[in-house]
Amino acid sequence: MKKAAILGATGLVGQRFVSLLADHPWFEITLLQSSGKSAGKRYGESVKWVLDSQLPAKVADLPVEPLDPASIAREGVDVVFSALPAEVSVDVELELARKGLIVVSNASPMRMEPDIPLLLPEVNADHVEVLELQRRRRGWSGGIVKVPNCTTSILTLSLKPLLDEFGLRRVVASSMQAISGAGLTGLPSMLIMDNLIPFIEGEEEKVEEETLKLLGSVGSEGVTLNNSFAVTASCHRVMVLEGHTIAVFAELEKKSVAVEEVIKAMEEFRGNKIKGLNLPSQPEKPVVVRREPDRPQPRLDREVGRGMSVVVGRVRPDKVMGGVKYVVLGHNTIRGAAGNGVLIAELLVKKGLV
Ligand code: NAP
Repeated sequence: MKKAAILGATGLVGQRFVSLLADHPWFEITLLQSSGKSAGKRYGESVKWVLDSQLPAKVADLPVEPLDPASIAREGVDVVFSALPAEVSVDVELELARKGLIVVSNASPMRMEPDIPLLLPEVNADHVEVLELQRRRRGWSGGIVKVPNCTTSILTLSLKPLLDEFGLRRVVASSMQAISGAGLTGLPSMLIMDNLIPFIEGEEEKVEEETLKLLGSVGSEGVTLNNSFAVTASCHRVMVLEGHTIAVFAELEKKSVAVEEVIKAMEEFRGNKIKGLNLPSQPEKPVVVRREPDRPQPRLDREVGRGMSVVVGRVRPDKVMGGVKYVVLGHNTIRGAAGNGVLIAELLVKKGLV
């Protein structure tokens, strides 16, 4: 078993990591850290557990330590899962990599740096190669690997089969994002109940840039962005607990593509980059297509593929864009955060990097 530390373990993404790793066949949680306010307490006493599943009993008894990179290095863990707030993450993650540790991080800083792999394994598992460049350039033996932004991961899984089969020119994405995306204490109910907030700071830029990195290619200078198409996004917070929904409008390079061809490309997409690796968190179908006119819906569809598949519906022609329009839904704290983080760590184990 590989020893795993979770940083930010008491937060929403941290709780997802705990639930996904508690009975994982390859990883064992050995260390939990968060802000100093939980110092001296057991996990079960300090966490405000909000997931549907029960808090795993064997994790409830573990102590929660205040954040301290030196103690993580001393404990000799094999992989560190970071669910820290952006502003706290940078110094800690850099220090851990310098100390020889592999960090799989959900925090947004450094995602766009060319020598930092931003991974959605079904789409770009080969980008893991840039870890070698990262180590050489930065002179450390550890490494930092980033989990993409939640909305970006969900959107990109649906775009990849379109890019491969028909080519893409322009993508317009309008998101309806769950409250849990803002963290455990991020959004007071007085602001969101009976409401919609048409602004999520920094989110649109992340979707527009990270999509092009995920679909980019690896060269001697790291990852080069895909410049064959452009993405524009409008992001909105809605009164849904979990599950981000995105209305997508895509101009395709190939013209007059039939809706059935688009559905076939999505249904047959198996995430070739990790096909056959049999990673424990890998969904059988990364993209599931529904044909009913009123799906996908967050409450009904977010758990498909144990929360690791995205669900597409309402695929129809788009006459203005000269392509196709559809709706895609994904679980933001599983596919968009901790679940993808665990899948990345499994890939790193398979590649001998953890
Ligand atoms: P959250 O619920 O607010 O949790 C934050 C965690 O960080 C808590 O464990 C908190 O510990 C800890 N923390 C806060 N300040 C700290 C400090 N100064 N030192 C050490 N630990 C500190 O946030 P979240 O939603 O889990 O998000 C975590 C990270 O994942 C963020 O970078 C976020 O942008 C990213 N992310 C989130 C989602 C999502 O859907 N929520 C999706 C993708 C990426 P205490 O409980 O002790 O305060």
